[in-house]
Amino acid sequence: MSHVHLSKADTTEVEEQYVLDALRSGWVAPLGPHVDAFEHEVAERAGVAHALALSSGTAALHLALLELGAGPGTAVVVPSMTFVASAMPVVYTGAEPVFVDSRLDGNVDPELLLHAIDTLLAGGTRVVAAMSVDLFGRCAEYDEIVPGLADRGIPLLDDAAEAFGAAYRGRPAGSQGAAAVFSFNGNKILTTSGGGMLVSDNGQLIDRARYLSTQARQPADHYEHTEVGFNYRLSNVLAALGRAQLSRFDAMLSRRRAIRARYVESLADLDGVRVIGHDSPGRGDDEDNCWLTCIELDPAGTATSPERVIADLAREDIEARRLWKPMHLQPVFGASRTFSTGIASRLFARGVALPSGSALTDDDIDRVVKVLRGALVAAR
Ligand SMILES: *Cc1c(COP(=O)(O)O)cnc(C)c1O
Repeated sequence: MSHVHLSKADTTEVEEQYVLDALRSGWVAPLGPHVDAFEHEVAERAGVAHALALSSGTAALHLALLELGAGPGTAVVVPSMTFVASAMPVVYTGAEPVFVDSRLDGNVDPELLLHAIDTLLAGGTRVVAAMSVDLFGRCAEYDEIVPGLADRGIPLLDDAAEAFGAAYRGRPAGSQGAAAVFSFNGNKILTTSGGGMLVSDNGQLIDRARYLSTQARQPADHYEHTEVGFNYRLSNVLAALGRAQLSRFDAMLSRRRAIRARYVESLADLDGVRVIGHDSPGRGDDEDNCWLTCIELDPAGTATSPERVIADLAREDIEARRLWKPMHLQPVFGASRTFSTGIASRLFARGVALPSGSALTDDDIDRVVKVLRGALVAAR
């Protein structure tokens, strides 16, 4: 029996051909024709005017935050239920991250987000941006977030690292807000092995970020620097890998969605388990990119725990993971201000991320379901 990964990179001969082309062309630096083309293709897919290819999603967030004015003496509001890479770049800038809790789909609670901003502003805190995270590939509730932030004059930064290819009421992930970020890390829905993209309709913001990403080099005939910059660009070889993935993206996306549908159907008759996001009112899975399918175990319906389910799966050579541990529970952010309802910690305590990679077969999914059903039934 083969090992079933959580979200393994799905690469084929198409990827080999593109990477070979980049190598043979001689463009192996962090610039070149594949970088330019990858930026255009991602911008088009995300429904934005401009894109900047970078070495990681974390780097993209860092530059976006700097452009939005994050720095010492300012605060950025960040969803607590996320991967740590949403919050770390806030600290790089010297700004204070302030955490906000989730709704049941794991995405930030829009009412609480706006309440947090109002409270911070009333207390004299300079809030320069609010971040949304499109968790596990599902867009946050933008109909509530966008007008509320506009009323308050606070720019939105969308951490769409997990959500490439998703949409919200017809608008692609990454097209909401002042700027958005994608990650192309090895475990994401589309990969460049490591890489990321900053996207925005604001050409000036992207131009400034491009300048900062190349050591803030001034346009002179020698090396002239008037500001502190970074070395954050994406390699042309890796951009080629990204373009190969893009050429296959529609199929990879449908496969992730088909895997979600198979889990939903196979678990429908079981008590004590819900598929996170799938069950949220008014929105099905259609616009979710289904990067990861995650479940919440309900103690009223089952006595088992995420630890036990993950151990049962591991015994059958299947990889599953806990959900992100909320930022306000992380020792590194222990002293941070938080607006909490307890939902994020509940999801952390009860959630399991199931194997969801597009290279998984139906038989792989059925193997996962069989172990899961066994674990839930045994713990009734
Ligand atoms: C993966 C991820 C990032 C960071 O992306 P890297 O490319 O790994 O730096 C940021 N935010 C979220 C929510 C992520 O899942």
